[in-house]
Amino acid sequence: MTAGPALRTVLDRLAAAYGPQAWWPARDPFEMMAGALLTQRTTWRNAARALAALRCAGALSPEVLAGLRTAELQALVRPAGTFRTKAARLQSMARWYIDSGGWEVLAARSTPELRADLLGLSGVGPETADDILVYAFQRPVFVVDAYARRILSRYGWAGWDQPYERLSDAVASAIGRDTALLGEFHALLVEHGKRHCRATPRCMDCPLAERCRTGLHGATGVAKRAARVPASRE
Ligand code: SF4
Repeated sequence: MTAGPALRTVLDRLAAAYGPQAWWPARDPFEMMAGALLTQRTTWRNAARALAALRCAGALSPEVLAGLRTAELQALVRPAGTFRTKAARLQSMARWYIDSGGWEVLAARSTPELRADLLGLSGVGPETADDILVYAFQRPVFVVDAYARRILSRYGWAGWDQPYERLSDAVASAIGRDTALLGEFHALLVEHGKRHCRATPRCMDCPLAERCRTGLHGATGVAKRAARVPASRE
């Protein structure tokens, strides 16, 4: 991996190309957390439909959500797919939120404590935990998803198979452990992965092409391997 300024150049170029991403679209931290579970293995559009249904039913608070009948909650989150699993995970998260003492108690915990707690919840892996940490709890962590792996490996900044924690920490360090920048960088990488750095990259007119190893030298073995990394939000 190269030094920080090189990665800031990537961030700056993507920001200039795509503008502010305004992530995460949520009215409060609990809604953000619910959205992070609902968007797993589906598009954000489907997750947003389920969130809208929950909002209409007045169920986007941990207390109401935890008390809903199972069948009712399943019907509300059905647009997000795998609705039985997602309903159970949402209720489990709502109960954890309440049993932990609510927002003020949770927000006072250290990042490692919170992350360990989140990882103990059903359906919360490192990517979802870090989404919640950066966008709901405003902690300076970097979310490593398939887009980040693909783009950073093709660019030549990181190996495509770096262990999650190592890559996350390296990016957070290079960006300067700034919560707003790290959240924006993740959002910009998702946008870039959808527009240019797709499974088959569209290097023509890519804002990173002048400095990207793959853009400069054409499809390499790195690019071919990275292209096989699944992208859940594509
Ligand atoms: S130049 Fe091509 S491989 Fe490099 S970031 Fe852009 S689209 Fe991806």
